Amino acid sequence: MDSSGASLPSSCPDARKRRVSYFYEPTIGDYYYGQGHPMKPHRIRMAHNLIVHYGLYRRMEISRPFPAAPEDIRRFHSPEYVEFLSSVTPDTLHDHTHARHLKRFNVGEDCPVFDGLFEFCQASAGGSIGAAVKLNRQDADIAINWAGGLHHAKKSEASGFCYVNDIVLGILELLKVHRRVLYIDIDIHHGDGVEEAFYVTDRVMTVSFHKFGDFFPGTGHIKDTGVAAGKYYALNVPLNDGLNDDNFRSLFRPTIQKVMEVYQPDAVVLQCGADSLAGDRLGCFNLSVKGHADCLRFLRSFNVPLMVLGGGGYTIRNVARCWCYETAVAVDVEPDNKLPYNEYFEYFGPDYTLHVEPNHMENLNAEKDLEKIRNMLLDQLSKLQHVPSVPFQTMPPTTEVPEKREEDMEVKAKPRIWNGGVNYDSDDDDDEKPRGRSLNNDAAYGTSSDLRHSFARVKDEDMTDANVKEESSP
Ligand SMILES: [Zn+2]
Repeated sequence: MDSSGASLPSSCPDARKRRVSYFYEPTIGDYYYGQGHPMKPHRIRMAHNLIVHYGLYRRMEISRPFPAAPEDIRRFHSPEYVEFLSSVTPDTLHDHTHARHLKRFNVGEDCPVFDGLFEFCQASAGGSIGAAVKLNRQDADIAINWAGGLHHAKKSEASGFCYVNDIVLGILELLKVHRRVLYIDIDIHHGDGVEEAFYVTDRVMTVSFHKFGDFFPGTGHIKDTGVAAGKYYALNVPLNDGLNDDNFRSLFRPTIQKVMEVYQPDAVVLQCGADSLAGDRLGCFNLSVKGHADCLRFLRSFNVPLMVLGGGGYTIRNVARCWCYETAVAVDVEPDNKLPYNEYFEYFGPDYTLHVEPNHMENLNAEKDLEKIRNMLLDQLSKLQHVPSVPFQTMPPTTEVPEKREEDMEVKAKPRIWNGGVNYDSDDDDDEKPRGRSLNNDAAYGTSSDLRHSFARVKDEDMTDANVKEESSP
């Protein structure tokens, strides 16, 4: 066991062993946001391919997710927005009924309408809800969905390449069984959609580590800590360009250690956005794969039910490396740095290794600034002396933001996560050309429909829609 691991008592007799459940939709890599668009679902298929060729699939239970049904998605998202997402296509985009909604739902630029958009959302959300069900039933200690982690999606709005917030849906499912859920986000962008959804409740604590200052989505100031019953149950860690492994670890470990002690979550959700890696096409941190994966290694040591999700990540060969390595950390294997031959081998040249090393970029995170941040965070946490007592504040309502008027939105442009290709690196894009929707290169296990039946989802019909009505206290 990692000697620097957690101090909480372990309920598991074997300190190393964890039952890992992994969700993978074999068609996920076929979805295509459009030419030059940095978000490439193909990276999930690349990661899966490495996982298969390293033999990691033998150490976990693999499930194909059920597609989340519209009513599942409506547990967080508004009916009008779900109706729009489920009916719009590239061909009907400019029809009268859809055209007037594009601005309202922020669909079109960062978040284009592409072929199979809703099915893509259903697969992503279905994996995270399925992962929550596995943990709820105690069928797994760790549940992984690399197609999830789409943290920017809002109740009635797409944002930053995200349409349906699978994380919020997964957490709502966890809350059926678990009193307190901790959400941790290590994507380079602020986890705004998840924070907003649970900003007023103490049943979910959100912690986001992100680049702050002239960067999408613009939120996540250290002083934003939640409101009402949620006061101090949101934590934001603003960081600067060039953040390295040592910087990150020196903030992550003490902060999360303290959070685990004072909040004592019953389940943890970790968003592993890989755009915080060195050399990311949109990111500006300088983390190695090992430095990134140290977060998962640390959380795993607490032996609390853990959901592990994907997120951003735009240099796709590195995303595949990172999520493959993190899968190995989950199943407690140290894979060979030399990559096994795999369907996408040519992406990993010239060295064909699993790990990526940091580069020589300037680090704008001064040690004294990091220390100040660490002290502020620990100070905020000291205001949470006690675990929230039962009865909890009722089922978390998702924050009711007043509906913006459409005129207002015309005037004020939304922040963009990506500059629309003005500056995009064409070499990168050539390198990352999709294989086309007809090609399915998945090895070792394919699309067998019995995978669909390998796992049936429980549905608790008594659960009130969280974002509509508050449930009465237990
Ligand atoms: Zn991101």
